[in-house]
Amino acid sequence: MIVIKIGGSVLRRGKDYITAAERIKEDFIERGERVIVVVSAMKSVTDLLIRAANGDIESAERVMRIYREAANEAGLLPRGLEEVINALRKAVERGPSSLHDREYIVSLGETMSSLLMAEALAAEGLRAKRFDARKVIVAESTGAIPKVDYRLTARNALRVRDAAIGGAIPVIEGFVASLPGGHTITLGRGGSDYTATVLAVLTGAREVYFVTDVPGIMSADPRLVKDARVVPSLDHSEASEASSYGAKRIHPRAFEALIDTDVIALIGNWALFGTAVTPDPEPCVRPKLVASSFVDGKGRAALVGRGVCRHSFIASLASELRDYDGSVLSVRPVCPRPAVVLDTIKEELPELVRWLHTNFVLGGEP
Ligand code: ASP
Ligand code: MG
Repeated sequence: MIVIKIGGSVLRRGKDYITAAERIKEDFIERGERVIVVVSAMKSVTDLLIRAANGDIESAERVMRIYREAANEAGLLPRGLEEVINALRKAVERGPSSLHDREYIVSLGETMSSLLMAEALAAEGLRAKRFDARKVIVAESTGAIPKVDYRLTARNALRVRDAAIGGAIPVIEGFVASLPGGHTITLGRGGSDYTATVLAVLTGAREVYFVTDVPGIMSADPRLVKDARVVPSLDHSEASEASSYGAKRIHPRAFEALIDTDVIALIGNWALFGTAVTPDPEPCVRPKLVASSFVDGKGRAALVGRGVCRHSFIASLASELRDYDGSVLSVRPVCPRPAVVLDTIKEELPELVRWLHTNFVLGGEP
């Protein structure tokens, strides 16, 4: 059993649903694989829905057009799409009064997307079975990012697994969950990643695939670093650190959910899944990547890889830093977690990321 999560970056137009369905059929189903599909909203839709949830009707109208046009282009008539569009219109016109209404509005992008995906799979002659994520994933909203309640979700996940074992392809919207009382809640930006790993763990899947528009997790943000390259392998803790410090904007809880499990995550595009995230810690001498993000008005870079926890590494970082021209506000190893975190002023983040990448990820003494 495997879980395939299809990201919004590869769902830009109607044809992309057809491509996804073809790839799932040819690359997985026809090779005898049992598959569970987790779908994100189409590109940009969640941003528009957040505006819609703040009362912007025009943004809601754009989302409706995006999905209608996608269905049209793909030649699909997804059952239930018009109902969801009407529900969205009503909710926005009513004026979102509570947090629950807002979460409901924001969740509908994934719902519409999953309707399209189920229909695209059916058009390929496959038996797709849509699951309402609210009836599967139960979360508690403690802290900034909601946390899935494994106990309450586990039994629901077995229904999904049984459908897949029975030969259907479960299709479920990512990012969307319910609170124990039944209200809709979303799992935070990038939440489909988290849905996918949780489902993989709870259905006993062997692998979880993340389909995106790049061939894997890169050694640095390619917008900042031209010679960034795909990182071929990370262990669960390294990947968890990388995503929590901003790598590839993967949901910070996604890889955390895999720690202490046997599930392998594969990240890439339909042509190549270039990064494998595996359970086994690898002996690693140099950092594998630099993750970066903005936090509280500062720039934050994190060197990630098992090797960064060694004394000799910290010593060499400290000595190299003496020759670094930019400003570094703090250096913080977070051992035993495999990362060292450096803060700088906002404007200097690109420079720091490039310097760390050149000197520690690519070259120099480990
Ligand atoms: N659509 C949501 C977002 O843009 C969740 C996801 O794509 O994973 O954050
Ligand atoms: Mg994402």
